[in-house]
This record gives sequence, C-alpha cells and structure tokens, in this order.
Amino acid sequence: MARFIFITGGVVSSLGKGLMAASLAALLQARGYKVRLRKLDPYLNVDPGTMSPYQHGEVYVTDDGAETDLDLGHYERFTGVPARQSDNVTTGRIYQNIIAAERRGDYLGATVQVIPHVTNAIKSFISSDISPECDFVICEVGGTVGDIESLPFMEAIRQFRNEIGRGNSVSIHTTLVPYLAAAGELKTKPTQHSVRELTSLGIQPEIIVCRTEHPLPDTERAKIALFCNVRKEAVIPALDAKSIYAVPAQYSEAGLDAEVLRAFDLLDSAQTPDMRRWEDVLDRLFNPEGEVTIGVVGKYVGLPDAYKSLTEALVHGGMANRVKVNIRWLDAELFEHPEADIPAQLEPLHAILVPGGFGERGSEGKIASVTFARERGVPFFGICLGMQMACIEAARAAGVEGASSTEFGETAEPVVGLITEWMSKEGLQKREATGDLGGTMRLGAYPAALSGNSHVSAIYGGTEISERHRHRYEVNAHYRDRLEQNGLVFSGMSPDGQLPEIVERPDHPWFIGVQFHPELKSKPFDPHPLFASFIEAAVKQSRLV
Ligand code: GLN
Repeated sequence: MARFIFITGGVVSSLGKGLMAASLAALLQARGYKVRLRKLDPYLNVDPGTMSPYQHGEVYVTDDGAETDLDLGHYERFTGVPARQSDNVTTGRIYQNIIAAERRGDYLGATVQVIPHVTNAIKSFISSDISPECDFVICEVGGTVGDIESLPFMEAIRQFRNEIGRGNSVSIHTTLVPYLAAAGELKTKPTQHSVRELTSLGIQPEIIVCRTEHPLPDTERAKIALFCNVRKEAVIPALDAKSIYAVPAQYSEAGLDAEVLRAFDLLDSAQTPDMRRWEDVLDRLFNPEGEVTIGVVGKYVGLPDAYKSLTEALVHGGMANRVKVNIRWLDAELFEHPEADIPAQLEPLHAILVPGGFGERGSEGKIASVTFARERGVPFFGICLGMQMACIEAARAAGVEGASSTEFGETAEPVVGLITEWMSKEGLQKREATGDLGGTMRLGAYPAALSGNSHVSAIYGGTEISERHRHRYEVNAHYRDRLEQNGLVFSGMSPDGQLPEIVERPDHPWFIGVQFHPELKSKPFDPHPLFASFIEAAVKQSRLV
C-alpha cells in the first residue's frame, strides 16, 4: 500500500511548498521509489481554468484534459510522471460533486454536512486513482494553516492519518523563519505559533521545513524542535536556491528525504539516492558555454508566472545546447503604437517567440513581430495563439486583405475561427460522431500526423506525435493553398486531416508554429525537442548578429 505525505504551509503564503513537494518526490525517485504528487486547493473555483493569469499564474493542462494549478507543472517537470485530472482538486469541485449528488437524492434524505460529507469526499480524493506500484503519495495543501477555507482539508487529513494508522503517513509543515535586521536574529516564534495551530487541528507534524534567508543556527533549530515536539534533525532548514533545479540537491543535503524515510521507519532499508540526473542538469545550467537572448512577445509579460512552463522549457532548451537563455519579455501592445520602433527592439534578439494567449489585445503587435522574423530570417516559434498569428500574417502577405481571427470579432477572412464557422458539413458530421465539435475548449492530449519530409518530423524524429492543447479556435484549412503558396506549409495535421496542427516555412532558417503547447511536456532532464531545436537555431543566429 502507498504511504502518504501531507505538506502544509504556515506563517505566510508563497513559501515554495510546491517546489518542496516536487523536490521531495524527485529525491524519493532517486532512491528507487515510485511517487505520485497531488494538490488540494481550498479555493471555491471548480478549477483554475477560468482564473486570470494575473491572479493565479499559468493554467497547467494535463494529458487527460484537466486545467490545473501550476504546481502540477513543477511536479511533472521534477519527476517526469505525467500529471492527471485526479491530481488536483478544489473546494469548488468537491462542493459541486456533493451538491449534484444531493440533488440526485444520493444522500437518501440525510442532512448533508461538512463533516462527514465534505471530509469524506476529500478523503476519497486523496486515496483515489493510485496504482498498486506507487510507494508514496505526496499531497500538498494550498493556502496557509489557519485559513478558514482550509479547515475541512485539515480535518480530512487528521481523520485520514488516523484511519490508515500510525507509521503510514507523515506530515511536513513548511514555515518561514524571518530575519529581524534590527535585532540581527532569526525569529522562531511564528513557526512555534503555526505548528501550535496545526496541532490544535489534530495534526502533529513529524517534520518542519523552515524557509529562511540566513543559515539556521543550531540553537534555533533545537528551540524549534523543543517547542514543536519534533526531533532536531527533523527541523530542516531551507535557504533560497540559485535555481529551482538546485532545490532537490539542497533538500537532500539538508536531510529532508532521509528524515521522511526515518519517520516511516524505512531509512535503514532504503537505497542511497542516485543523483546523477540532477548533477547533469546543474552542470548544464551552471556551466554554460555561451548565451542567447530570446524575445517573447506576449500579453502578460509583467507576470512571468503566467508563462511558467514556457520559461522553463526555454531554460531546458538552453541546457540541451549548454547555453544560458536570457528572456526578454516584450509587451505586444507597445508594438502597436504608431511611433514604435519595432526593428530597434527586435534586432538585438537571437530568436522570437509568440506564446499562447486569449483575446485581441496586442494581436497586431504580435503579427508585426512575425513579419519581422519572417522577413529578416530570425528564428520564430509561434505557440497556439502564436501559430494563429503566423497564419494570419502569411495570409495578409499572400494578399488576403483583412485576414483575421473570429476570436477578435467578425471578419470577412476568417483565417482562424471556430470549426463550426468554417468546416464543411461532412467534416462536422464526422467530428460530431467523435463528440469533438469545437466551440468549447479543445483540452488535453491529441495526436497529430507530421509530413514525412518536414522540418518538424526531423526534429521529432518521427511522424506521429501527441501534444497537449488548450484552445477554442482553429486555423481554417480552407486557406491552406493560399498560405502554402506564400511559403507557409501545413506540416502537421490532426490524424483525420482536418485540423492544422503545425505550420512551417521551409525557406526560412527556423520558422515553426504549433497549435499545441509543447512547453507543458518539457523537463530539465529531457528537454522538449522543439525547444532544444529552437535554441540551437538561436545559437546559430547569435553567431550572425
Ligand atoms: N485564443 C486562442 C484560442 O482559443 C489561442 C489559445 C491559446 O493560445 N492557448 O484558440
């Protein structure tokens, strides 16, 4: 049976619990264990799909089409285990299910209450969909202990721990140990209070992870151990790391995985960790042999969390080529000002990327940057909305005046639109049979067939791929001939040949647009081939500039 590790946070939010959970999972993997990571989010949204990137950062999409918290992206990047719908739940989803069951009469007239109905639903989520081979399930609880909205989760964890029996679960509490400059001291009191709050809810943590900006002196470690009722070695100091990819090694040195295994009474029988994968990652990251600058022309450029997976995939592409990747975030809207000097901004860049996005704002600026990349032979990567912009740009270059997307309003030339707006009757009928009629989001993994002699099939090393999608609009295949005459070739299509998945320019050094989100599947120890190839092209470009 799998063992369970619960991770909570105290004192403040943004302590890096998600990275800690992902790192612990990576360390357990390095000792040969099989892990699964999941996140319990106490907010009332059913999922983060409708939340603004400004509020919540990126929405991470899984193969099975779930729109989830960006921490699941860290989980997958650090472990290589594909995240699933069943790895993220919110209070909103729990209540939605309970209320639907109540309306159906499933409760047979009982009064439906937080305890036991909500707590039971949380407990069954925690233990659902776990394969028999799994050794550890790591559950991170969002928010901070003491929040009203997280109380049902704490109560469910208390009950769950009691039910599965002592020794089968470990609670890790993450806190902040602030440094008071005036006193010249680290302060443990907030940690003491936070642990007291947690124990008052019936959860005595076995391990306390202390985020601090200064090394934690032995005396303070002993004090936390004494007041919080844990072994001194179970007070794990966690200083800021130089890179997120240095976090696993740092926690390993601080003894986190060893303490977890000791708490389960497994330490004596455990393998020593094999950290070679992470050593290689850090070597590539910290010993680059050059650098490139990539311009990302987007909308949420003030908030890098909105493009978390993209940022990481670019870094991974750098690791594949042993170069440091500098990202210059460029606000597409600024390119729309009449006096904007676009060449001055784009000339110093070694490659240009237009990422995914929603809505019309900044679209003309994105199209202008596509024109620049096409005309100047600068490597260009268009992702989702970025591919759609590349197609509209090509249509306009081919003389299709007013080419646009119906996402931006009515247009006489819908180069991008909902499939119900442009697909033939027979095409739609075929799609209807599969239940995929568009209009709602196309979410999750879909296969694509690549042309045999294309640039992308050379990059992937094959002609059949599967990538994750999150979009509503599609490039209109009726424009295919006109775009191909302009040099933009449709080199990847959905297997039924109806939906464009990839476009490329064979007469350009590196010009690729993809309807999906390859960044979601890139890992530091397994960079996505498109990103590795894109950065390689940027390195070549850097030798020309
Ligand atoms: N807004 C576009 C669509 O819905 C692109 C979405 C995206 O880039 N993720 O099709």
